[in-house]
Amino acid sequence: MRVTFLGSGSAMPTGDRFQTGILVQEDGRTLLVDCGSGVLHRLQQSGVGYETISTVLLTHHHLDHVADLLPLMKARWLAGEEHLEIVGPQGTKALVDDLLGVHEYMQGKLELQVREVVPGEFSVAGFDVSAYETRHSLPCLAYRFGDLFTFSGDSEAFAGLANFAEGSAILAHDCSFPDDVDVSNHPTPETLGKELAGREIGRVYLTHLYPHTEGRHDEMLESIGAHYDGDVRFAEDLKTISVE
Ligand SMILES: [Zn+2]
Ligand SMILES: [Zn+2]
Repeated sequence: MRVTFLGSGSAMPTGDRFQTGILVQEDGRTLLVDCGSGVLHRLQQSGVGYETISTVLLTHHHLDHVADLLPLMKARWLAGEEHLEIVGPQGTKALVDDLLGVHEYMQGKLELQVREVVPGEFSVAGFDVSAYETRHSLPCLAYRFGDLFTFSGDSEAFAGLANFAEGSAILAHDCSFPDDVDVSNHPTPETLGKELAGREIGRVYLTHLYPHTEGRHDEMLESIGAHYDGDVRFAEDLKTISVE
């Protein structure tokens, strides 16, 4: 399996990190998880291209995870692609309908399949996926792909999510802010380190990074490392990880 961070940023731009998007590829299958602002460009830069993306899996409906959905639809339509499947938590159908209600000329341009999923097991784009409800300001699902890859979506750090991720070769986890930012609905390095303590995880990538984290990476890693002694790194846009 190959996991590519298309966007490791968040709702406030850093200039380097686009909004959330992760590409999951295995045996010729390709799935885009989240589609925030900039992801359409990163898809092109990655060499995969928007033509290849026929399924998008959404963690939740915040703008930094869905902003490029309509631009992706339009690019695919212009390229002569006819389908797009959009899978996400409850409310995804209404979201897509409402987006198309605002941009009426996009209605009917693609054959859209929209599917809502709940915590538990399901299949998407040929991948067997487990979903787990996170702690965030909107309903949000974390996704796990077998023993290979887990993505937290947006979430506070908590034991249930750490349990869900345990045993993954790769975990990409929201780590939006350094410790001195007073935050809810996202973790701080300290809370993440405490929840990951003692867990068996191959490698952790920190993502969903706000500008507040710039220049603070070393102290964030130290804060996590005070509780969790595993391999922790920062995600970067267009970074690809191969995982067996
Ligand atoms: Zn969010
Ligand atoms: Zn977000």
